[in-house]
Formats: sequence, structure tokens, C-alpha cells
Amino acid sequence: MNIKNYINGKFEDPIHGAYIDNYNPSRGEIYGQTPNSSKEDVEKAYKSAAKAFPSWSNTTLDERSKILSKIADLILEKLEVLAAAESKDNGKPISLAKQIDIPRAASNFQFFANAITQFSSESHESVGLNAVNFTLRQPLGVVGCISPWNLPLYLFTWKIAPAIASGNCVVAKPSEITPMTAYLLGEICNEAGLPKGILNIVHGLGTSTGQAIVEHPNIKAISFTGGTKTGAHIARVAAPMFKKLSLELGGKNPNIIFADCDYDKMLATTIRSSFANQGQICLCGSRIFVEEKIYEKFKNDFIKKVAELKVGNPSEETTNIGAMVSKEHLEKVKRYIDIAEQENGKILFGGNKVEVRGSENGYYLQPTIIEVSDNNCRLNQEEIFGPVVTVMSFKTDEEVLQLANDVKYGLSATLWTNNLSRTMQFSKQLQTGIVWVNTWMLRDLRTTFGGAKESGVGREGGFEALRFFTEPKNICIEY
Ligand code: NAD
Repeated sequence: MNIKNYINGKFEDPIHGAYIDNYNPSRGEIYGQTPNSSKEDVEKAYKSAAKAFPSWSNTTLDERSKILSKIADLILEKLEVLAAAESKDNGKPISLAKQIDIPRAASNFQFFANAITQFSSESHESVGLNAVNFTLRQPLGVVGCISPWNLPLYLFTWKIAPAIASGNCVVAKPSEITPMTAYLLGEICNEAGLPKGILNIVHGLGTSTGQAIVEHPNIKAISFTGGTKTGAHIARVAAPMFKKLSLELGGKNPNIIFADCDYDKMLATTIRSSFANQGQICLCGSRIFVEEKIYEKFKNDFIKKVAELKVGNPSEETTNIGAMVSKEHLEKVKRYIDIAEQENGKILFGGNKVEVRGSENGYYLQPTIIEVSDNNCRLNQEEIFGPVVTVMSFKTDEEVLQLANDVKYGLSATLWTNNLSRTMQFSKQLQTGIVWVNTWMLRDLRTTFGGAKESGVGREGGFEALRFFTEPKNICIEY
């Protein structure tokens, strides 16, 4: 199936007719073409957005809210089709796409449909000065949204929904590796009655299409989720143009397990936080630190449970681990596994590619557990972003806190303990944007979302996202 750009409510071929191949990773086959849009396509999308802005920014909150709700409803109505498309395009298990990706894309629209009707700006009475100040929160104009391949529709809509809810018009680019559900979203927006030009979707490579969005002189803000290296590049391009920037980047998250935790819950959750979506979630707990007292028991139980995970074709409901997103990514993750030995790492489970019957050319990898003894090894310092976790034991609170923080990333951390004082100490001292205690990936969309250190700048979620997509203007009236 060939994908087209979605500009001014219409589906269009790229101006220069350039396309790239779109792969089905579960079979290792090309199954369609995606536009590789040029600067001219981005300009066309920008013009369409700029034309729509005066009217959209003056549309009542009630009207915007109704349209966003309608988009949410239509996503849920088409859940089966969208989940199948996501699974095919990305390689993720169909069950995950049905339970997480697509429902969450609908929730993103529904959440911001509601949030915009509750969003308010500040006012300050300057007592004794006979003055009152109030702050207007005005939309920025045309904004750019750029998203990665791991949770394609989920992360794409997490940006678009608050951007349009707050009255902006958007030029958006999904990952060139997983463009399909973003393409299908265009049809849904038309069906929901979103006026033309408010959302424009241009497909293509980061270095051509993405770069053109970031460089565009009149695109006022860039909301980006992706790798830390790409984020640094985008910051270098956008900062001298004084664009607003929201950067959600990589992670190397610690999963800290104390002996006093609820063991069974911890074990079941750790399976998910290690290997959900083939470990390709920025929030996965890829560095597992276990208190020495339960280290041997944990290792045995963890290996046993991981061995039960079924690696298989993502379209089968019983599959736990689907295909890696691309051949290049599979090779990259495999190279990390291959350096384990040089780093004094011991592969406790997995480590090999898997041949799935009937899909011999697909990109499959075993879930892999590597025991390490030094947090300074590359396996513990670099983001692998695959079904690979390391395990390491610790003795004291101080030691594990130091290990957890001794990394350049700071996205999230998971803590397993029933000790309240320890919970508070770690919550305060972990250098991350998110701390989960006795849970993982429990999301309340009102909360701030984002990372510290090299995991990003700014926060998404709730009113933070609406603040990002609006410019505050203070008005001071003396009376
Ligand atoms: P990536 O940085 O390679 O690409 C992300 C997006 O940026 C893609 O759409 C890509 O085309 C585009 N891009 C690439 N170069 C660009 C440029 N020069 N200008 C503009 N756009 C450009 O990341 P990826 O491999 O798609 O995704 C994986 C990464 O995303 C991991 O590091 C992961 O941790 C991170 N991630 C972070 C979060 C978070 O919320 N912090 C969530 C999901 C994924």
C-alpha cells in the first residue's frame, strides 16, 4: 500500500515524486512506498497550516473539544484495523497494539478534548498599586511535531492532540520507519470534521523532511521525541531561531529491586518493563539492580519466566515478543549482545536471533539477560533499545542509588520496596523525570512526562503540554 502526504485535507504525492520503501519487519519484506518529502512539500504543508490558523485559533474551545472527541471515537471504532496496521508496520505483537497503542492514541485526543475546556491562565491583583495583571495564553501559530517508530500512533497523537487543542496548526512527521497509522489518521481527521489545513502530515526521512520542518523560519515550535543524538542536532538548528523546543529523548532506566518488595508482583512487572514491545520503549527498565539477599533467587525465577515468553509472528495473538522494527536495528542490538564477553558480561539467557517458521526473513531476537559486574560498561551506559537487560547485585541503599544515577540519561526509574522512608529518599534523590514505585508504566495523562539530564528538555502531559503550545502574554491594567 502506497502512502501519501496529507496536506490541506487532501492526500498528495510528494512534489518531486521521491519515495522510500516501507518494510514489514515480521517478514523482512517491502510492502509499500512512503513519500520522501522535500523542502517544497514542507513549505506547502506550512502554507496550508498558516492559512488555517486565523480561523482555528478563533474556534471556540467547545467546538475544538467536540472535534477532538470525535477523532478519539473514530480511532476506537477502527481499533482492529489500526492495530493490525501498527503491528504489521512496526513488528509489535497485535495484542499490544490492541491493548496499548491504539486505545492510548484515542485517549490522547479524548484527554486533550477535555483538558482544553479546563485550561485557564493566571491573574494577579497588584494590591496597593491599583492594578490588575492577567495572562493570555495564545496559540503559537504553526508548530512542528516529529515522532519516533517505537509507539507510532501513540506518540504522534500525544503531540498533535495538545497542539491543535490549544489552537495551533500543525506540520507533523511520523517516523519514516513506521508511517502507516499516521497516514490512516488523516482519513479519520477528515471524517471527524477537522477543518482542512489544521493538521498536515508530511512523510519522509529525518535528514530531508524532518530537517526542513526544524529549519523552517516560520514554524514556531518543535515538539520532538526520538534519540538523544537527533535531539542535540535539532537543538543546534532550532536554538538560534529561538524556537520553543520540547525534547523527549533516550533513556537507560534503572529497575531497583529490594528484598522487602512484593516479590510476585515485581517479577511479573519486571518481565513487562524489560521486554514489552521487544524492549523498544524509552521507559523500559534496562538496568536491573537486585539486592544481594534475593539476587540468586531473582535470577533463577527471572530466567524461568523469560524462557516462557513466545517469540513469534506479531499477528498471532499468543505472541509475546514480536519482530524488531528493522534489520538495521536488529543488527545494532545484536552488536551490543556480542560485546558482552569483552565487557565481562555473562549471557544468562537468550542472545541469539530467532528464525520464526513461515517468516524466516523476519527480524526476530530472543529476549536476552546479561549479568554484569560493573556499571561503567557500555551495556549499562548506552541505550540499546531492544530486548536486552542487564542484571547486577547490590548491598546497600547508598550503593544502588549511586549506581542508578551514574549514567548520562535521566528519563525514569522503577523502585521495588515496601519501606516508606526508603521510597521517599529514593524518590527525592533519583535523577530522573519519572519514578515508579511498585509499578511500571502506569500512566495518568495529567502528570508531567519527560526526562532529566540527556533524556530531554521540557515536559509533556496535562497542562504542561498546553503551556508548551501557547505563548503567555501578561497584560497589566492600572485603574
Ligand atoms: P530518531 O531520533 O532516529 O528519530 C526520531 C524522529 O526524528 C524520526 O521521525 C526521524 O525521521 C526524525 N529525525 C531524524 N533526524 C532528524 C533531523 N535531522 N531533523 C529532524 N528530524 C529528524 O529516533 P528513533 O530511532 O525513531 O526512536 C528511538 C529513540 O526515541 C530512542 O532513543 C528512544 O529512547 C527515544 N524515545 C524517547 C521517548 C521519550 O518520551 N523520551 C519516547 C519514545 C522513544
